[in-house]
Amino acid sequence: LSKSFTASGTLEKLSGKTKYVRAVNNVSFQLNKGEVYGLVGESGSGKSTLARTILQLTKPSSGEVLYKNQDLTALKINEMRKLRKDLQLIFQDPFSSLNPRKTVGQILEEPLRIHGVKKAAIRQEKALALLEQVGLQTEHYFRYPHEFSGGQRQRIGIARALIVDPEIAILDEPVSALDVSIQSQILNILKALQKNLNLTMLFIAHDISVVRYISDRIGVLYLGEMMEEADTDSLFAEPLHPYTQALFSSVLDGSKKERIPLKGEIPSPLAPPSGCVFHTRCPFATELCKEQKPKLREVRAGQRVACHFVK
Ligand code: SF4
Ligand code: MG
Repeated sequence: LSKSFTASGTLEKLSGKTKYVRAVNNVSFQLNKGEVYGLVGESGSGKSTLARTILQLTKPSSGEVLYKNQDLTALKINEMRKLRKDLQLIFQDPFSSLNPRKTVGQILEEPLRIHGVKKAAIRQEKALALLEQVGLQTEHYFRYPHEFSGGQRQRIGIARALIVDPEIAILDEPVSALDVSIQSQILNILKALQKNLNLTMLFIAHDISVVRYISDRIGVLYLGEMMEEADTDSLFAEPLHPYTQALFSSVLDGSKKERIPLKGEIPSPLAPPSGCVFHTRCPFATELCKEQKPKLREVRAGQRVACHFVK
């Protein structure tokens, strides 16, 4: 059996008074049970909007989010509330969402209380188990958020999200606020938890090496559109889309291929380029690219690319 999770459609988000931003445009992908799907893109590529749309924190202007054969966008608020437990979000900076007046124990147990775990002893047992799983100690149960470092707070954020046994964790830049050495600790914890709990993860980040380390499959976003999608090994062995190639060559050293320079700046999402949204920066762009939007098509087994010229 497999469970699929699909997000597709066009999201229009109001910005200012008169203009619409097409933050996410016709992005469609499937999240398979037990996998880590990495979404990578520069800031402004629509990653966070996509996460919020999947979770119904913002409504898409069109499209659907299918989870266990239900379209989340069509659910009533109370129906969605029941599913909230299944779909947990982990943010970049959990500190802002950790109540400074509550102990770690209270913070961890609150979601259990909300989801109807009545016995205090059971809540406590679960909280202590989660603390251990994220590499914190029993004594931390009685401490307050301000007593912790950034990395420890992220561990608390992870424990709080996972304490309700979600099916899917959506992580939005979970390590980008942390020092590199702490990043790898947190990534290792996430990897271990994912494996032990057979958790399905959508891992969103701008840092390619981070996404590569944790993901089974990767989707590359640019200006709210999916440029390429493949399993991690294939994507790194042979990135096919010019944007993916440029993105990888600018970051990964020792890359076999020569660096592909990206021309200019990322255009404003307020005025996305016509045709292929990448044409203003693509070294291979032609007249066709300005006029026609390339379809995302399967070019190799499991590898989908949106470019007119990739064979
Ligand atoms: Fe570049 Fe054209 Fe391919 Fe877009 S469709 S990536 S502009 S070559
Ligand atoms: Mg973001």
